[in-house]
Amino acid sequence: MGKMLIRNIGTLVSGDVSDPILDADSILVSDGIIGAVGSDLSAEGVDIIIDAQGTTVTPGLIDSHCHVVIGDFTPRQRMLDFLDSELHGGVTQVISAGEVHLPGRPKDAAGVKALAILAAKAFDNFRPGGIKVRGGALILEPGLTEEDFAEMAREGVKTVGEIGLGKVKKPEDAAPMVAWAKKYGMTVMMHTGGTSIPGSSVVTADQVIATNPDVVSHLNGGPTSVSPEEARKIVMETDLVYEISHCGNPKMILEVCRLTREKNAYHRVVIGNDHPSGTGVVPLGILRVLNMIASIGEIPPEIAVCMASGNTARVHKLDSGFIEPGKAADLVIMDAPMGSVGDDALAALAAGDIPGVSKVIVDGEIKVQKSRNTPPPKRAATL
Ligand SMILES: [Zn+2]
Repeated sequence: MGKMLIRNIGTLVSGDVSDPILDADSILVSDGIIGAVGSDLSAEGVDIIIDAQGTTVTPGLIDSHCHVVIGDFTPRQRMLDFLDSELHGGVTQVISAGEVHLPGRPKDAAGVKALAILAAKAFDNFRPGGIKVRGGALILEPGLTEEDFAEMAREGVKTVGEIGLGKVKKPEDAAPMVAWAKKYGMTVMMHTGGTSIPGSSVVTADQVIATNPDVVSHLNGGPTSVSPEEARKIVMETDLVYEISHCGNPKMILEVCRLTREKNAYHRVVIGNDHPSGTGVVPLGILRVLNMIASIGEIPPEIAVCMASGNTARVHKLDSGFIEPGKAADLVIMDAPMGSVGDDALAALAAGDIPGVSKVIVDGEIKVQKSRNTPPPKRAATL
């Protein structure tokens, strides 16, 4: 794979909400891993040099909520290549929230276990366009045993998809399975708010608290939200990680941002697309949430980017999400779009604009040379 140097970086976003902007202008990548971050790093022995032209480099964005099934096809909206399209929106990794759209999805313990293992292994071997997919998010159904969780963990299943999608919904039924999942290292997500599709159910704050997942999915609704009082309870009275999703309730995005600022809970927010869904396929969903929360939601734009990278990496135990030596070199180079009132990518987000992406890099390899989905950047990185 060799060495890559990215230099002349104008703004470098770390992925860490507690220290979001790094004082450095270059990144050295060796064999797909970030080797050094600093100023004026030497180009000696480097195979590829990218001149960022004074623009912004961030960790690859991570979509914490994607309803993949198998391959780059969604039965939900009968569309191809939606994952490749999301890569062109600066997303280098998506996390499955449950392969719930599989036609004829099995609803017995053996079936959901097989589906989770199959999706986890298939996406380990398949990166559409280069995007990383953590597939295989188990949907909880009655009859699963502790030995099932142990076996799935051994076979590579790392996630429990949104609790509420399957028949195990009540906290007293779900809590033992949640404990097994956590014991074997899985990250557990839980649907919150009103019903999404026929067959799903309303999930309240008290049910979430009694179930104790790792991630409260779409606190702003998916698509129907909990009430502001219920959202307040989750933000103020728990330490749970919670998600702001694109396909949720926009008014509640503002409320969740307000609560986050009040509680100083920036480290607890992750950003999800929640597509493909009834809302559709949204290639720029993550960038759109970032511009919403950074503009009308009054979250500093560099913090917003860290919510969509380092925060998600931490709760899902990924090797990416931060710009620091030893992490996977999943990176995005972007600038304000042409015509924006913002001078750079962060100012554009704060102004409510979608930045222009000029390079997307996954494991140290350039996967997107020029985004086909974002508006063109004012300044594009060059090779
Ligand atoms: Zn949901």
